[in-house]
Parts: sequence; structure tokens; C-alpha cells
Amino acid sequence: MLKRKSCTICKGKLDHIKTIKDVPVYMGVSDSSDNEYLFEDMIFTNCNTCGTLQLENLIDPEILYQKNHNIEIVGSLWNEHYDSFIKFITKHNQLDRVLEIGDPSGKIASRFDDYNSWTLVDQNPIDGVDANPKIFVINGWVDDVEIDGSYDNIIMSHMFEHLYDPITTIKKLKENNIVYGTNVFLSIPNFTHLYDKKDLPPAGLHFEHNIFLNVSIVRYIMKSLGFDFVSIQYYKKHSIFMKFKYTGQIVKSNLKKKLIQLSVSDIICKYEMLIEEINKKDGSGFIIYGAHFPAQFMFALGLDKEKFSYVMDASTSKQNKYLYGYGLKVIGPQEIKSWKNTPKILCQMGVYTEEIKKLLYEIREDIEFLC
Ligand SMILES: [Zn+2]
Repeated sequence: MLKRKSCTICKGKLDHIKTIKDVPVYMGVSDSSDNEYLFEDMIFTNCNTCGTLQLENLIDPEILYQKNHNIEIVGSLWNEHYDSFIKFITKHNQLDRVLEIGDPSGKIASRFDDYNSWTLVDQNPIDGVDANPKIFVINGWVDDVEIDGSYDNIIMSHMFEHLYDPITTIKKLKENNIVYGTNVFLSIPNFTHLYDKKDLPPAGLHFEHNIFLNVSIVRYIMKSLGFDFVSIQYYKKHSIFMKFKYTGQIVKSNLKKKLIQLSVSDIICKYEMLIEEINKKDGSGFIIYGAHFPAQFMFALGLDKEKFSYVMDASTSKQNKYLYGYGLKVIGPQEIKSWKNTPKILCQMGVYTEEIKKLLYEIREDIEFLC
């Protein structure tokens, strides 16, 4: 485990806000129910100087990304995200040499062919991702690998917020791979929306998303490193696309301090109350939807595991495996079709909740949702 000792943006002092004890360190599934699970305290802190919310305990990338859980594109929201992001990238822009950080399966590269080379950097690239002779793979965490050559376009889709020290990472890319005019395209989660929704994970943070990034913070980081801000596009309330161009002109500005520590505690408190209600419900054999962070957070916050028999997930790569940390078996949505009893399902999947509930009602109209 690594400890963040000062603010990753401005090196200011970090103030403690809230701790969730014993959260599973890996967001996904294990092959067997008797796996030895690792847990770590999730400590929310606020920078005393710039106000940025960030986690103190950081998990070694080798453990955090031990197996990939980001191979398939699940759901229309993500499909459209990639389509829109490609349009944003290719608008007024020809791709020659592309460096993409954090994509195990070439989800963007595989959607079009109008480039000369595409280098993927990922901890867990899937077999065969470089079958296309124009695709090259560098296997490892971005901070630990050597990346050669310069690139005219660098892409990070839902990656920037996973970095532990984005300023140092971008500085290293600047020294080795970025030239005057290199474009950097980012797609980041809309943290402000996630914070406003008051869903899990609190303010959009978990061990992977370890810094609360909004447009101001990202612009501040990139400008302080010599990148011009070119354009921005919102993809629904899901993601924010941003384009920067390297000019070497460094602009130092001040971040406005935002104090949001109280509300992060409020989000956690809201779920603790909800969990208390669910724990009081009679019966057992409940299903929790999503072999992912919401289920893990709910159990870490005290949801009674004994009442639950299964985890449900639409991803076939997770089915018949076990939720990391809690050992519950993962079933597919179709499995409830033949159940004699009414399935009782807890579905707390943030922005995806309504889409998932609609799909489940198509399988069975009599589902009882626990909240
Ligand atoms: Zn700071």
C-alpha cells in the first residue's frame, strides 16, 4: 500500500474527512469463493490549500489492476461514449501516431482504421489485441514502463483519474513522447455530476478513481504543464471530453478552494441509513446487482452479507465467478427467469440503475427491488 502524503495537485496538506474501513482492494471477481481477499481502509481527505478531494491510501497498481475488468463494453451508455469520443477526437484532426494509455482491448482503435500506428499502454492487455499490424502494445503501468518515440495524439479514456500523480506522469510523457503541437484527448467521468447525485462511490471516488477531478482542476494541471486548452464536450452527464495541445507555454493560475468534506460524509451516512433499512428486511436469498464497486461498498458499509445469495452481472466474463472480498457467486440476469420465487434484487448502480432495472423487468415483471 502507498500513502499519499500531500496534495497530488499542489503539495498542500491533506485533512482527514472520512474513512470507510476494510474495502476490498480489487473491483471485480475472483475465480473461487475461497480466494484470499485483501482489504484496505478507504481514507477520504481534502487538500487544505486547493480543496481537492483525494484518497490517502493508494493500492499498488499490480494488486489494484490484477485482472482486467474493463474488456467488454457493457451497455448502450458506454457504446455511445466511445462513438462520441471518437467523433470528438477526429473532428478537425488527422491521426498519425497515436499513444493510448489505459485500454486493454483497443476499444477505440478497433472502431476505425484511419491512422498509421496505435500504441496501447496497459497493465493487462488482452491476447490478440495487437493482431492488427498497426497496433502495438506496451505491457505495464504507465509510470513504470519506457515509452519510446514521439506521438501526435495521446488519448486517455477514463484513465487520468486513475493516475496517482498526474503531474509527474504528464511531465515524463513531455520529456519523452510529446512535441510541439501534440494533442492530448481526455475523457474523464463527470465527477461533479457524480457528487451531485450523492450515489456510490462517494463523489465518484474509489481506489481506482483516487482524485476528484473537475474541469477546473484538469485545466489547471494541463496549463501548468504547457498545454493549451482547445475544446470541451460533455457526453450526457456521464463523461467530459477535453482536448489540449502542447505549446510549452506555462500558465500558473489559482484553484478556487471548494470545501466539500461535509457532503462526502453525508453521502456515506445516507447509504449507512439505507443499509440499516435493508438489513431489517425479512427473508434471505436476495440478489445484489453488479459484481463491481457498489456491491463492495454496500458490504463494506455494513450490508448484511448473510441475506444475500448471489450477485447479478450482465458481463459474461464475471458470471460463475465470485465477488472479490465477499465470495458471493455471480449469476447472469437470465438465470432468474426460471426461479419459482419472486427475485428480490438490490440495484444501486448510480447512473446505470434505471437502464438496468428496465432490462431486468423485461426478463421478469414481478421482480421486487429492495430500494
Ligand atoms: Zn492541493
